[in-house]
Amino acid sequence: MGGGELKYVNEAFAENWIAPLGPNVNGLEADIQSYAGVKNAAALSSGTGAIHLALDILGVGEGDYVLVQSFTFCASVNPIEYLGAKPVFIDSEQDSWNMCPEVLEEALQHFEAEGKLYRVKAIIPVHLYGVPARMNEIMSLAEKYSIPVVEDAAESLGATLNGKHTGTFGEFGVYSFNGNKIITTSGGGALISNDSSKIQLARKLATQARDDAPHYQHSMIGYNYRMSNICAGIGRGQMEVLDERIQQRRANFERYLKIFQELGWEIEYQNERYGVFANRWLSAFYFNPDVFGSNFREELRLFLDSLNIESRPLWKPMHLQPVYDGCQYFGKRNNAERIFDFGLCLPSGSNLTLEEWERIEKALTEFSKR
Ligand SMILES: *Cc1c(COP(=O)(O)O)cnc(C)c1O
Repeated sequence: MGGGELKYVNEAFAENWIAPLGPNVNGLEADIQSYAGVKNAAALSSGTGAIHLALDILGVGEGDYVLVQSFTFCASVNPIEYLGAKPVFIDSEQDSWNMCPEVLEEALQHFEAEGKLYRVKAIIPVHLYGVPARMNEIMSLAEKYSIPVVEDAAESLGATLNGKHTGTFGEFGVYSFNGNKIITTSGGGALISNDSSKIQLARKLATQARDDAPHYQHSMIGYNYRMSNICAGIGRGQMEVLDERIQQRRANFERYLKIFQELGWEIEYQNERYGVFANRWLSAFYFNPDVFGSNFREELRLFLDSLNIESRPLWKPMHLQPVYDGCQYFGKRNNAERIFDFGLCLPSGSNLTLEEWERIEKALTEFSKR
């Protein structure tokens, strides 16, 4: 926490406003809008709920397809199944580790050739680990084939592409304020869009789709997805420290690069090319097996673990998940699979202490001498 959160939470208690909706919810929405430069934001109970609402509003349903990045967390994909549609997985490209525009085009051409393009209802690129996907290329394809884009920016709040915030390129953008993200409301998310009527509809659907009547009347199926006024209070305080958190996370990343340089390790990572500004939510690195050998990553992970330093493999691609067995996958080069096999996420907290850094640096140095 940054310090300002308690002020907003205390206000909610003082006003006895302990409910979904309320002044903090409106305040947080206004904060998100001005920060990201987007016309509308709806504060919700989770990022997953935000993706679900976006796809619902786009009319995704039984028998439809949604093209989604395979290299991601399951929450990018599960809402497709909630709606009875099928995910079609797209491989990543080497620079950003995100949706490969070339492979996306192949998939679109495939559906066009089969006469099933009308069944493709959305494209979901993900800005993984806070690094923007190739949105210019993805948006031109989306426009060419007239398919709306839902950007999963759950991990990339504050990351920009040529100065434009991730989440603001597509029809919809999704942020997450889950406990593990760069800032948090303990649990929560937001759906953003420049289309006011779509966000109005999202707010309605998120509150059980109640019609405008004195009694409870419903003409649509809704959800209970609104953020509480307490959580939003935490969020308002967190927004005040977001830029500081981004600086801390970016400093972590730079520090690892410096350590690797000193050790002579030629590490690969998501590059900040093409006008990219990453928030570096997590410090994730790729240990090329041609350079390090194929056991290096796992041996390093286990070595760190033996010193009580937690590191983790990267997201396991969705086309390799048992639950998505049999789903369609496009990707000739299998980049996502390779990044999963040889990538590692190192300690990335905003609050790593000097002492913890010394332990990490010592451990990496020791490992390099083995
Ligand atoms: C965290 C996350 C989500 C889901 O957000 P929640 O708020 O946890 O529901 C979606 N996509 C990605 C890539 C995430 O990392």
